[in-house]
Amino acid sequence: MTLYRSTRDPYAKAITASQAVLQGLSPDGGLYVPVTMPQIDFNFEDALAFSYQELAYRILKPFFSDYSQAELTDCINSAYGPNFTDPLVAPVNYQADNAYLELFHGPTIAFKDIALQLLPYLMTTAAKKNQLTNKIVILTATSGDTGKAAMEGFADVPNTEICVFYPKDGVSPIQEKQMLTQKGANTHVIGIKGNFDQAQTNVKEIFNNRDLAKQLATKGYQFSSANSINIGRLFPQVVYYFHAYLQLVKAGKVTLGAPVNFSVPTGNFGDILAGYYAKQLGLPIKKLICASNKNNVLTDFFNEGTYDKNRPFYVTTSPSMDILVSSNLERLLFYISGEDAAKTAQLMADLNQTGKYSLNENTKAKLADFAAGFADEASTEAEIARVYQASGYTLDPHTAVASAVAEQYKKASGDSTPMVVVATASPYKFPQAVLRSLGANEIDSGLDAVNQLQALIKVPLPKTVADLFTAKELHSLVVEPAEMEATVIDILE
Ligand SMILES: *Cc1c(COP(=O)(O)O)cnc(C)c1O
Repeated sequence: MTLYRSTRDPYAKAITASQAVLQGLSPDGGLYVPVTMPQIDFNFEDALAFSYQELAYRILKPFFSDYSQAELTDCINSAYGPNFTDPLVAPVNYQADNAYLELFHGPTIAFKDIALQLLPYLMTTAAKKNQLTNKIVILTATSGDTGKAAMEGFADVPNTEICVFYPKDGVSPIQEKQMLTQKGANTHVIGIKGNFDQAQTNVKEIFNNRDLAKQLATKGYQFSSANSINIGRLFPQVVYYFHAYLQLVKAGKVTLGAPVNFSVPTGNFGDILAGYYAKQLGLPIKKLICASNKNNVLTDFFNEGTYDKNRPFYVTTSPSMDILVSSNLERLLFYISGEDAAKTAQLMADLNQTGKYSLNENTKAKLADFAAGFADEASTEAEIARVYQASGYTLDPHTAVASAVAEQYKKASGDSTPMVVVATASPYKFPQAVLRSLGANEIDSGLDAVNQLQALIKVPLPKTVADLFTAKELHSLVVEPAEMEATVIDILE
């Protein structure tokens, strides 16, 4: 049985996977990690014949070992069905001299769908297993992408409610339209007259308000969070690394057992950390390339061994990577410190107090699984144009960052290992930035930009995007940041 422990408290009691899914964060502020690394029980040759769903089961079962075979199979089959428009779920597309692992064929056309389509099932199953009778209320502040992906996952899932707060003037027109047209009687979208930080701070306060928790418990509710540190979001992402590798083998791009590199557009470090777990499970990955945008705190960390968030924050065309503190990095610190929770806690305390921490030489040497680089706004635009001209394939700005950094890495290292670039969003999610990169002079606003991009690149519109043009707006509530808590109480009454 795989149990989970905190990255920070060496003495805390280990808990089951289903308990960790329900809790999200450990009470000491640490993140949950398996007490011993799970092992997979299949060989790669057999796996060549697996569907995405079978592969997911075989990889996830050792991580979620207190879920029965029937429970986990049900979760996986409910999550990865016709809501993904490609039967492969995560297909690989070969363009120019890279393989692009497309993680954007889910309902919100971005990679968070892969985990957030599964999490609600893992969570409601966990609630049953642990005899919870309360309804789970998911609270999220979003700068655009996560909230929508979480709602798509939780919409109409029995025994859940989801409230998403977003900055009324701080998301793109497409993101806002996607959220306001969200269906599902248990979904609640609320704009706030403030910025993302205010939304986030108030959500944390609502979470930490014990009196409120007690009051809601008497009415049969309890809060939970869907954020990316939850093991129910992290481990489902391990699957597509294996799936990509097996596709490359089947396509004759690598021989079974030979290594590949992955270049991953990184923000909170969840996606690439899943790649690190895939490598621990035996997937032949040579380098995991951590690609950042102009917010390049991770590039400096990998290259110098010092994490320093005391630096300007830039708003870029790859907003899901505009992050100064990458929460999931804490798990990597735990591993490279030799699973030393006290040491990890010390580094996190340093970060909290001074905004920075440094690794010693021994620990720094353990970062050799990774390479890192960043692409500024100009190189990101140039990469979108370069790939489009070379092969007619259109990258979104997040994917373009990873693609540009992959090129930099190949040139600087001379490493010719086959490269998989992780493609995290459809270009239709960011039409204006893409049009600008492709040299359009006048760029339409709002949804019109989607049509303009379609006329240029001639890739069929995903159904979820086409539907936006006629979808009815179902949510209209806008409140002051100070009214968020009262709003939640109101909704639940
Ligand atoms: C969230 C996101 C990322 C970053 O992933 P992390 O797991 O936070 O590192 C990259 N691209 C897109 C489109 C995203 O939505």
